[in-house]
Amino acid sequence: MTEIESVCPGVERLSLRTPTLLPATETNTYFVTHGDEFYVIEPATPYEPEQAALIGAIREKIRSGLTLRGAIVTHHHGDHIGAAMRVREAFSTPVIAHRETRTRLRDRVTTDGELDEGQTLFDGEVEVLHTPGHARGHVCLRQREGRWLVAGDMVASVGTILIDVEDGGDMADYLAQLERLADAVEGVVLPAHGAPIERGAERLRHYVAHRLAREAKVLAAVSDGWRTEDELVARAYDDTPREVWPIAARSARAHLQKLVREGRVAFDGARWRAE
Ligand SMILES: [Zn+2]
Repeated sequence: MTEIESVCPGVERLSLRTPTLLPATETNTYFVTHGDEFYVIEPATPYEPEQAALIGAIREKIRSGLTLRGAIVTHHHGDHIGAAMRVREAFSTPVIAHRETRTRLRDRVTTDGELDEGQTLFDGEVEVLHTPGHARGHVCLRQREGRWLVAGDMVASVGTILIDVEDGGDMADYLAQLERLADAVEGVVLPAHGAPIERGAERLRHYVAHRLAREAKVLAAVSDGWRTEDELVARAYDDTPREVWPIAARSARAHLQKLVREGRVAFDGARWRAE
């Protein structure tokens, strides 16, 4: 899809092909407009001609009289930043991200400004929420009355969100932030991958319940003695196809890290066991 689509008042979506985690193949770039100014959220695609479509869409907005205030990236992952440098250079506009994201992007993307919890865009109209868990520097943007939430990779309507402890992921933080977002949004949740999610709070709570159900399976898999990662993945993910187990193992590690921290699981350096 290389057409801009209006998703709610003040927000438009342009979904473009990116190197992302299958079955997702695209990342949404959002245009958030207030008055005669706008931000580009997730200048994501590294590919031509998708970058050309993005640049053309921005140029069209500027031609219509709007001023571009900056390009915001929700976090550092490669499927969210591919056009950041191109947009920065084409429009002499700042690339803005959380400081943890800026640190991780240092060698790939020049960033110019920082976003953190408590800051706002457009004089309070849009709030910045720092939502670590999927990535340490992850931010979401919330319309101040909760009418919409640009959710980055906190939730997806295509594919699943990977919590990778080797890349700063943290399951406990992630679940806490999902609960907080569920309380913060009244309207639509706008994920980085896939269509807008109506009744967003409901979906966010469903996500938390789904993760906790999986965590209960991980815990059950180590309840009868020491288990290696392969053994516990085969048990805890027995309802998923074998080919996803390598990815499942990374999720299992995130659950195990949380369970060990909570004192519910022991780790001997190679195997896990319920306490
Ligand atoms: Zn991500």
